[in-house]
Amino acid sequence: MSDFKSKVSYVKGLADGLELQDSKEKKLMMEIISVLTEMGEALDELENAVQENQEYLESIDEDLGELEENYYGSDDDDDYDEDEDDFDEDELDFDDEDFIEVECPKCHETVYIDEDLVDEDGKAECPNCKVMIDVKQIENDME
Ligand SMILES: [Zn+2]
Repeated sequence: MSDFKSKVSYVKGLADGLELQDSKEKKLMMEIISVLTEMGEALDELENAVQENQEYLESIDEDLGELEENYYGSDDDDDYDEDEDDFDEDELDFDDEDFIEVECPKCHETVYIDEDLVDEDGKAECPNCKVMIDVKQIENDME
């Protein structure tokens, strides 16, 4: 039983101990305890689901590890392969993450904007015409 459910049980015990006469207040208290009990059930289900997902992820991670070992073969080749990987990832970073490709709504140039230059509101200056572009908005529209 989760902490939450044992606390709800404790509260329910306290309420029972009051031996309240039937009243609107008692009805309200019983209703609150009933809602709390349902929340406890929902929390348990969530915890179970998260736990199952966690185990599933770990099993995928293990399988992936085995696949990688089989794919990359013996230790002798590892250094070479890892170096190759690093090179590829750096290239991908340049294309996918560091720069955002957008068409400027003002000058209609396709420009590449450094993600670091995009402000909190998702806006950045067009390198071509210096107008503020709503980068995030354009990105969302493209998807
Ligand atoms: Zn522009």
